[in-house]
Amino acid sequence: MTASDPTETQKKTHALAEAILAGDRRALARAITLVESGRADHRAEAEALLDRLAGAGRQALRIGLSGTPGVGKSTFIEAFGLHLTGQGLRVAVLAVDPSSARSGGSILGDKTRMERLSRDPKAFIRPSPSQAQLGGVARRTREAVALCEAAGFDVVLIETVGVGQSETMVAGMSDLFVLLLAPAGGDELQGVKRGIMEMADLILVNKADGELKSAALRTVADYAGALRLLRKRAQDPEDFPKALPVSALAEEGLAPAWDQMQALADWRRDQGHWARTRATQARDWFEQEVRAGLLARLARDPAIRARLETLGRAVAEGRAAPARAAAEVLAAFD
Ligand code: GDP
Repeated sequence: MTASDPTETQKKTHALAEAILAGDRRALARAITLVESGRADHRAEAEALLDRLAGAGRQALRIGLSGTPGVGKSTFIEAFGLHLTGQGLRVAVLAVDPSSARSGGSILGDKTRMERLSRDPKAFIRPSPSQAQLGGVARRTREAVALCEAAGFDVVLIETVGVGQSETMVAGMSDLFVLLLAPAGGDELQGVKRGIMEMADLILVNKADGELKSAALRTVADYAGALRLLRKRAQDPEDFPKALPVSALAEEGLAPAWDQMQALADWRRDQGHWARTRATQARDWFEQEVRAGLLARLARDPAIRARLETLGRAVAEGRAAPARAAAEVLAAFD
């Protein structure tokens, strides 16, 4: 029997789903590999698997975490993750690393990261794939989150580097968005893009220890002020978004940070915002899948692909108007 035999595939999917629901980390890792695969038969399996698992109705707290390289993300996630597992919680860490999709080199993929956490049986760490196709990063991450939830993790941390559009994408699949910053040298706010600040529910100023402590506390006060001016989400409690000091290295400030995350999550749950946000996110996901599917279908047809090429060039050289060129491709598809 071949793997593409439908009943055999069904049995395999069923066994994998059962193992994931039982919390088997190896099965979870295999399932994530499956959703990352570009092969059509793997895709079909992945979809069947996700569909089966969706019914389990398990939900984790999804925390998006962003910060520029060097700010202390790995150190923080390790310390914070261990803090959570120490309380009996199961923690999954997923990385979104746009650099690896572009260059094949990874900012986040270093194997020696989070060594202690990776040995913790209550933790699961998945580095970002080095060969992810650009458009596939969002899908892969969403699906990996869904798999971790089905595997019974209480918290899913989705880590991203502070570049480009990855924050927006991660914020769009998280319940909470946390921005990790370093103490500012002078009185300048560290050139954090306004849009990224606006997504943050919690700003954690890391490295609040030793010589950096007073600078960190000043930075916290600066950001607290900036956050108050920036925006107020009508639905959130008065004092959010917030800025707090932490030291990932000294493992200080982790409990208060976790308290604040839980307080905000509980509030949103109680007020019904949580469910509404999740519903919107699920709908967005669905619509993105439809769009991506249509594009993939267009690109599969060699004649249309050639047309896309030619018209793309014509548009780039100013010989055709974009809307007109797009209409022509769509007409050919019809
Ligand atoms: P990432 O690139 O954001 O993942 O940052 P890392 O976790 O690799 O940390 C970058 C550097 O900052 C390392 O040398 C860490 O030891 C250091 N670092 C991280 N957290 C802290 C902290 O809380 N205090 C101090 N003083 N250094 C830290």
